[in-house]
Amino acid sequence: MKTISDFNFQNKKALIRVDFNVPLDDQFIVTDATRIEAAKPTIDKIISDGGSVILMSHLGRPKGIEDEFSLKHIVDKVSEILKTDVKFVSDCIGEKAESAAQNLKPGEILLLENLRFYQEEEAGDVEFSKKLAKLGDIYVNDAFGTAHRAHASTTIIAQFFPNNKCFGLLMAKEIESLNKVLKNSEKPVTAVLGGSKVSSKITVIENILDKVDHMIIGGGMTFTFVKALGGNIGNSICEDDKLDLALEILRLAKEKNVDIHIPVDVVVANAFSNEAETKITDVTKIPDGWQGLDAGPKSLENFKKVILESKTILWNGPLGVFEMPNFANGTIELGNFIAEATKNGAFSLVGGGDSVAAVKQFGFEHKVSYVSTGGGAMLEMLEGKILPGIAAILD
Ligand code: AMP
Repeated sequence: MKTISDFNFQNKKALIRVDFNVPLDDQFIVTDATRIEAAKPTIDKIISDGGSVILMSHLGRPKGIEDEFSLKHIVDKVSEILKTDVKFVSDCIGEKAESAAQNLKPGEILLLENLRFYQEEEAGDVEFSKKLAKLGDIYVNDAFGTAHRAHASTTIIAQFFPNNKCFGLLMAKEIESLNKVLKNSEKPVTAVLGGSKVSSKITVIENILDKVDHMIIGGGMTFTFVKALGGNIGNSICEDDKLDLALEILRLAKEKNVDIHIPVDVVVANAFSNEAETKITDVTKIPDGWQGLDAGPKSLENFKKVILESKTILWNGPLGVFEMPNFANGTIELGNFIAEATKNGAFSLVGGGDSVAAVKQFGFEHKVSYVSTGGGAMLEMLEGKILPGIAAILD
């Protein structure tokens, strides 16, 4: 796996695909700069080698050229984080972009305009990719969040750098962390899968059954399994068309010697509201009119035991409706168990949109081994897919 550490960038122009798709408020101020900060180590290494940097990214989903999606809005923030005046050019291909790139001196950084101002970007257009490729000497992909898309700047462009393409440090770290769970994992391996629906996680569950010793299933998914097994789930969320699938997963798990752990008790509420009346019931005896919104204390005891015995832990999806404080306890406690296991030497990887939000909200970010930045990309890797953005560099 080639990374920027395998290159010396002295007097070279690095063309880096970054993921600067950051949230902006109505004054066009960046409200969360995590993604910009995440790209800093890669940029710093190239600059300290004596190279120059050309940054390309998308922002939002513009339909053609739309000022509100211009990357000019983030130039100040990028400059602040990189501690240098970043130049900006109002196009990503063509004469203007080419001359800005050409005039770049070692140590200088140029940010190109939004790639998605051209529909050729998402279409993976070869000619467009070729025009982008003209701008740099070495292509670096550091945008894990878009690695599952075969877009021009993430995948197609790589063919124009047969010997001069590599991963940035962020991307390398993501791949390495996922491989620690999927390929070179220390046993016992436990996956915690929560969230709302079985349907959105089914491919992950199926692929991961071959890699883990324990699987904890929590969150809204619980009730499809419990109902399939004949329990009363009251008004809990359930996918009735996935009952057979749930039974099939349980059968497969048995065949593959994977221990499945489902909540045995739950916090139920008489409405989907933080103000609702709550009580704790057996997961198979939820009265009509009540719905399960969080894991109960006995379940958490069981999960704790499994987590503390694990050497590798993957966490995707909350154990309850953590956005409401009254149903956040299970997710917080799970975070505590994983933090403790990590402190004892386990490798823990958290990823997928909502679990990252939960981890940040409850302050576990630095208590787990790695928090993945790519929601969709990470899920696709967990599903066993080979991401086009990764394959293009490995080719
Ligand atoms: P996902 O995007 O599939 O990871 O699902 C995350 C969402 O699942 C969060 O917004 C949670 O509020 C929700 N969720 C977790 N547990 C439950 C539950 N028992 N009932 C309904 N929604 C839930």
